[in-house]
Amino acid sequence: MIKLKDKYFKPFLNEEEILAAVSKIAQEIAKDYKDKTPIFVGVLNGSFMFVSDFLKAYSHPCEVSFVKLSSYQGLTSTGIVETLLDLPDNIDGRSVIILEDIIDTGRTLKELIDLFANTKVKEFKIATLFYKPDIYNGEYKIDYVGLEIPDKFIVGYGLDYNELGRNLKKVYQLNQDRMINLVLFGKPGAGKGTQAEFLKEKYNLKHISTGDVFRYNIKNGTELGILAKSYIDRGDLVPDEVTINMLQDEVEKNPDASGFIFDGFPRTTAQAEALDNFLSSKNMEISATIALDADDEVLIKRLLERGKVSGRSDDQDENKIRNRFEEYNLKTAPLQKYYEGQEKYHAVNGIGEIIEITERLSLVIDML
Ligand code: AMP
Repeated sequence: MIKLKDKYFKPFLNEEEILAAVSKIAQEIAKDYKDKTPIFVGVLNGSFMFVSDFLKAYSHPCEVSFVKLSSYQGLTSTGIVETLLDLPDNIDGRSVIILEDIIDTGRTLKELIDLFANTKVKEFKIATLFYKPDIYNGEYKIDYVGLEIPDKFIVGYGLDYNELGRNLKKVYQLNQDRMINLVLFGKPGAGKGTQAEFLKEKYNLKHISTGDVFRYNIKNGTELGILAKSYIDRGDLVPDEVTINMLQDEVEKNPDASGFIFDGFPRTTAQAEALDNFLSSKNMEISATIALDADDEVLIKRLLERGKVSGRSDDQDENKIRNRFEEYNLKTAPLQKYYEGQEKYHAVNGIGEIIEITERLSLVIDML
């Protein structure tokens, strides 16, 4: 699995498979054109690797040139095709063979055909390394095809996603069904919120901190805030029913998220069960629970420091902090067994530089 910008791609074709398709086209064209010195016209940018390997596999007299059109932006074809680099001018009376990296809807192809319609070439043929029969509009005959592929977005071997991935030797396809849902687990002060800020950027996830949502509601004097305040002020847990409903609302607010980081939730077995049921009703699941391990004494120091800047009353009083630890030991710690039972529990050392800890977490996430 590789990541380009915000998307994940999984291996689709290896180098041998690609080169076999290239040499198949070269042989077919050689059969028809070996005595005709054709001009091969590569369509930039995507075809540059294909043209290069194709020419190495084509051992008869030929010339080569390029045109440049542009239609892809992001993952879908925009439908607007621009001519960025025009045809060579020595093509009158010649046999021209277009080398495309991929033909999908056929829009770029139409533009190419229009380009040649105004010239005096003897003939022109179309060769494409990859071809998506499921979505091709069928308007023109494609003369040489390397490989038929399903309608999946692909990158590598010259093809890009937002200009990235052209240098990959293999071809990868978009992995659409990969959703990462993480539970960050650990005592108050373990660094869950800090790490979530980094991980959400790195993995394009939505961060939900139940503590933050409660504090937001308290600040705004909502009904939920008023209800939660007394519990939070004492360092007790807010009742499950309230917390579970709130968490579900937060998930529902983000239907397009490519995954979530749950920070400070679940904190009880009832919450963990509710989360599993809720996610499975949406065809989702927890990918992993990762604990940040740290000693109580380190955590107490951290929380008291944080309390000085954040103004959080539950961080300023050592008795309240100790009460939160007791709540944790009593109600939250048993979740380790719960997630171990599901083979989803991982723990990393939560002591060290912030960036080191992010790396420890990333090692776990990258293996998922
Ligand atoms: P946190 O910011 O995660 O340390 O949470 C601060 C406080 O919010 C906790 O001490 C609880 O009172 C309350 N809280 C946050 N998340 C939960 C939860 N999942 N269940 C119950 N109470 C919670």
